[in-house]
Amino acid sequence: MPNFNWLDAYQITSAVPHLEFPKLGNSMNMAITVALTQMENSQWWDAEKIEKAQFAQLFQLVKYAIKSVPYYKDFPVPRTPQELQHSWHTLPVLERGNITGEGSDLLSKYPPKSHGKINTQYTSGSTGQPIAVKNTQLSRVFWRAFTTRDHIWHGRDPSWKLGHIRIAKTGVAEYPGTLGKGWGALKGKDALIETGPIAGLNINAKLEEQAEWLLRNEPDFLITYPSVIQRLAEYCLQQGIRPKNLKQIETISEVLTDKVRHLVDQAFGVRITDLYSTRELGYLGLQCPENDHYHIQSEGVYLEVVDEDGRACPVGVPGKIVVTPLHNFAMPLIRYAVGDFGVMGTPCSCGRGLPVLKSILGRERNRLRQPDGEHRWIALSAKAYGEMLTIAPVREYQIVQVSLDELTLNVALEEELTDDQTKALSMWAKKSLPFSGTVRVVSHKKLERSANGKLELFQSLIE
Ligand SMILES: [Zn+2]
Repeated sequence: MPNFNWLDAYQITSAVPHLEFPKLGNSMNMAITVALTQMENSQWWDAEKIEKAQFAQLFQLVKYAIKSVPYYKDFPVPRTPQELQHSWHTLPVLERGNITGEGSDLLSKYPPKSHGKINTQYTSGSTGQPIAVKNTQLSRVFWRAFTTRDHIWHGRDPSWKLGHIRIAKTGVAEYPGTLGKGWGALKGKDALIETGPIAGLNINAKLEEQAEWLLRNEPDFLITYPSVIQRLAEYCLQQGIRPKNLKQIETISEVLTDKVRHLVDQAFGVRITDLYSTRELGYLGLQCPENDHYHIQSEGVYLEVVDEDGRACPVGVPGKIVVTPLHNFAMPLIRYAVGDFGVMGTPCSCGRGLPVLKSILGRERNRLRQPDGEHRWIALSAKAYGEMLTIAPVREYQIVQVSLDELTLNVALEEELTDDQTKALSMWAKKSLPFSGTVRVVSHKKLERSANGKLELFQSLIE
């Protein structure tokens, strides 16, 4: 057990007038505090005890879903949590493509009133078709509890200045950026804990503007996307820029590769942590405080890595990530395929019983297919990336599979590629990628991001 006591380190915001000691927050924050206090213990339970507690909760969820949700009406009614655990793998995996009519047949006809107000989250999905996912206030309680757990795990000082380079609409947080109070969306008495200032910048800012913003604001802690920090780290290295106060970087949303971890270490000499979450499902994994892998957030979700038959993949074998949020009774998602692939790991050296997700391999559509139809994962090593840079000063790249036997390598650079560079990059791609077809190299000034601002490093236009 660690010595770090979060209630000592973080001041609960007092919501009751004239009450300074001990402090009490508003009802939402008290609920989060109670959840967090229990989670401080449950993270250390052994894996078996954690799974048993999860099935006590899943038993409630599945029974409710069968009773109140049209989609699940023919599911077998479990008699006990043990029986449910035993037969779990026989329940069908819910693919995103199965959700029709914006998922209306997955909605509960009578969501529990005690679970609070219903929210709707829209997600673009891997097919580009928006899906509306509904959840209750309970999901927000757990969302905020896990956000706070992430700060606790990584020992972040709440007085730190947070910097945030983020996706925002045109006109919002545009360069030179914004400066506000408190890290989260909720401020003042509504915030769970008192936090320091926040500096925000729109992701559309130019690279030199981002660097200027970083030096002017000197955040202690920076949150952004792997593709953004990669470019910024490269730029800062090149220009000899080194922010003085930066202590931690956290990445979200895209896959964080070892190459970017290494680059950030070189450029800023600070720890980079990653988290795995989706708006509609909540927190799936947080990086371990002591290792680079993720701990599944088992108090919020039951996460499995499964093969084509829906059976658990052994440790080390990649499979489909399938998630069941434990507390969403408004739209129960049972064994929902997120669209990512992952690899489970062995128990963690830190002593936490929360299962280990060793790596996240990105979206299904990011799997390359060989001309013979075999699937391959693209994983460029730091060495391969270094070789690419010796050929041309590539700022960003993207690999697109246009057909079974052709890839396009899109590269962004300041100047047009020469014929020799184009040839060399094509040769490099053939050597570095697990692909035997042809590779066409196309240079751009800037690469297009998807609607949610992500830069997809690999894209497949086939299937
Ligand atoms: Zn750990």
